[in-house]
Amino acid sequence: MFVSIEPILNSTVQKNPYEAEFHQAVTEVFRSIEKVMDSFPDFIYHKVLERMTEPERVVMFRVPWVDENEQLQINRGYRVEMSSAIGPYKGGLRFHPSVNLSIMKFLAFEQVFKNSLTSLSLGGGKGGSDFDPKGKSDLEVMRFCQSFMSELYRHIGETTDVPAGDIGVGGREIGYLFGQYKRLKNQFTGALTGKGTGWGGSFLRPEATGYGLVYFAARMLETREESFEGKTCLVSGSGNVAQFTVEKLLELGAKVVTLSDSSGYIFDGDGIDREKLEFVKELKNFRRGRIGEYKEKYPNAEYHHNPDVSEYNPLWNHAADCAFPCATQNEINLTDAQNLVNNGVQLVAEGANMPTRIEGVDLFLEKGLLYAPAKAANAGGVAVSGLEMAQNGSRIAWSRQKVDDELLKIMTRIHSMSVEHAERYSEAHNYVDGANIAGFIKVAQAMIDQGYV
Ligand code: NDP
Repeated sequence: MFVSIEPILNSTVQKNPYEAEFHQAVTEVFRSIEKVMDSFPDFIYHKVLERMTEPERVVMFRVPWVDENEQLQINRGYRVEMSSAIGPYKGGLRFHPSVNLSIMKFLAFEQVFKNSLTSLSLGGGKGGSDFDPKGKSDLEVMRFCQSFMSELYRHIGETTDVPAGDIGVGGREIGYLFGQYKRLKNQFTGALTGKGTGWGGSFLRPEATGYGLVYFAARMLETREESFEGKTCLVSGSGNVAQFTVEKLLELGAKVVTLSDSSGYIFDGDGIDREKLEFVKELKNFRRGRIGEYKEKYPNAEYHHNPDVSEYNPLWNHAADCAFPCATQNEINLTDAQNLVNNGVQLVAEGANMPTRIEGVDLFLEKGLLYAPAKAANAGGVAVSGLEMAQNGSRIAWSRQKVDDELLKIMTRIHSMSVEHAERYSEAHNYVDGANIAGFIKVAQAMIDQGYV
């Protein structure tokens, strides 16, 4: 019997109008799940799909704060608690002016399956605000974080919901958020991950998403008996995920030629080496400058300021072997995907969440590229957050080496689970179906076991 997910998709779109990113994420997952529904009639009977697209809880709140000019500013805060079927809600906080309910819901939905793939006991959630930390003083960021947490603290906790960082939320913001949480609750508990290593954070949490992404991609190359040695790579973004993706790629012998931010991108044909990467880290993490400064320091590189991306993004139009989108959602459209294919790219692994539009994904699959969807490839960050929770629970700090070994094991396991589930359930045999199906079955089964909640 063939079970169509079309009516459930239509009803999700109707119930959540104007939420294009959420529709996109649900469609992408359901297209894979459709292939297994006839093997699991219980999932239909118990309305698992209908329940999964309805968040368990959405909190939306006002965040007032006073800027350096003593002007009152009002932002909107969110926490989408999507699923606690297999553990406490877990997922990052994003501070970016583009944040809205649709983006929060797509990220929370994706997070449910990603967290399931890690094999750790983590439910899925996501939160954030339309606050833009760019150009704000440390004091303004602190005031905002304190006001944001003055509401959020009611909804989170080490066994309830454990947020982490995402775009615009790094070590500085987690520090301010944790400080306020601790003050309001009068408890020093692991209610946030990504903390400083001196106060409950795990070694390797900042590196985890980028390192994990490259570990996963290395497993993919191995299936074709290849490695990163001598491969040319395109990387977008220049924040947390991009920086540590580049670091691990360099360690494995690859050459990286691009980085970007929302003002433009650099192309360095000589390769971004370790020294240049250190410059980028200092520029982005401490001076909070723009990527254009790279050109001032390394004049051989090209800098393209605010390139016209209305039809395609020129960053993706360079000859390369591998591509790692590490900036934001929908940064690769069909033309970008076509350019990547035309320029010889064999592997695309997603550091950012949902960076490729569905038509681009279809093209990669049709052309037989090694293509890793975000929920599998970038799960290293949440995995090490899960390890941070374990360390907090036992009040023991693991060594850097131990965390790295665990991260490598987890990424390798996600790779093999994705391959196995694709082979078992999908004739297409790709990482998209494999990851979606593997992540889904565990959550669906837990929902059925726990009754109608
Ligand atoms: P950061 O804030 O550290 O860096 C984000 C980078 O992407 C910056 O270079 C930023 O440029 C650029 N960027 C953000 N939004 C846009 C936009 N709309 N257009 C162009 N460029 C943009 O974030 P992360 O590195 O943490 O996150 C990057 C991606 O990785 C996101 O999709 C996130 O969801 C995903 N991710 C992150 C994880 C983590 O552990 N941090 C875990 C799993 C996924 P600018 O500075 O100009 O804004």
